[in-house]
Amino acid sequence: MKFGTKAIHAGLEYDSATGAIMTPIYQTSTYVQAGIGNHKGYEYSRTLNPTRHALEKNIAAIENGKYGACFGSGLAAMDCLIKTLNPGDEVISTDDLYGGSYRIFTTIFQKYGIKFHFVSMNDTSEIEVKMNKNTKLIWVETPTNPMMNIIDIEAVSKIAKANNCLLAVDNTFATPYLQNPLDLGADVVMHSVTKYLGGHSDVVMGALICNDDALAEEIYRIQNSSGAVCGPQDSFLVLRGIKTLHLRVQRHCENGKAIANFLRNHPKIDDVFWPGFENHPNHDVAKRQMRDFGGMVSFTLVGNQLEDALNVVKKVEIFALAESLGGVESLIGHPATMTHAAIPKEEREKTGVVDTLIRLSVGVEDVEDLIADLEKALS
Ligand SMILES: *Cc1c(COP(=O)(O)O)cnc(C)c1O
Repeated sequence: MKFGTKAIHAGLEYDSATGAIMTPIYQTSTYVQAGIGNHKGYEYSRTLNPTRHALEKNIAAIENGKYGACFGSGLAAMDCLIKTLNPGDEVISTDDLYGGSYRIFTTIFQKYGIKFHFVSMNDTSEIEVKMNKNTKLIWVETPTNPMMNIIDIEAVSKIAKANNCLLAVDNTFATPYLQNPLDLGADVVMHSVTKYLGGHSDVVMGALICNDDALAEEIYRIQNSSGAVCGPQDSFLVLRGIKTLHLRVQRHCENGKAIANFLRNHPKIDDVFWPGFENHPNHDVAKRQMRDFGGMVSFTLVGNQLEDALNVVKKVEIFALAESLGGVESLIGHPATMTHAAIPKEEREKTGVVDTLIRLSVGVEDVEDLIADLEKALS
């Protein structure tokens, strides 16, 4: 089955009681048993709820995985995965990383004796420098935020397999429509469902997807034991969002491309970071592992004036100044004072997060209006 058909149908059954075409919101905590242990597969909604169950099957299918597990946020999904590790274990992670991921690694799990190394994975040899017998997990985010670096998932998966450790990929930016890490050798995929999968800026949710029976059993055990599950109403909203994922992402990509090209030719713009450009350092890898290049575009202004960047984000009218990404509406952000404000200036500038860097989550509006909005703000 191809992507759009799976997005709309996988894991879903028409309601047996009424024939309702949409999965009902089973707003219930418990399930009546005919006798002790005699139930229809559901006992208590932390363990399993029919609406969440339908979503978990659907999300697994669109990532070409066997098992899906959904959580109350993207970070709750990561929390579950890291809890499969033990004190003394080590993790090698991308250094250009979502700020919340860096925070959960360093301020939550480090004190339980798990060690994290952050390396640039543009060149995979840096992974091997940190690899040792305690390394149990490699954590990859690609494309990265906000610099749009691309990491070669297949190359990293070979290193993981050779060293007997797991590879997890945060696939939030790419979406399963553009990139399927399990097909490229990853062991587990994580999503901030909050972003493109939900797609309408109305839900916070996370997911893990994998193929291995034992790993799935462990994930479900922790999901039930720690209890960071998502509710049935949110599960319904995401099931509805995923039905149009392929259509939305096609338009995000078209609009992203048009805006990247507009910015590239604008006299007030210095650099544009978008993996679709042939001179992007890892364009070839992006072309190989992604179906298209997505709707996230970052750029810097000519000069080094913080004021100029703050003016642009203030003057746009259609682009909304906000954190997050992946919704139908276009958002604009200023990493140096927003998402990356906690990182010292010299540190963030080393990875490219300078004062004039602006990040766009290009939405699915009419692109002519979006370009006119940017043109006006830039003049
Ligand atoms: C937003 C985000 C997360 C965290 O997800 P939440 O749903 O906000 O908890 C993790 N990784 C990436 C790449 C994100 O954009």
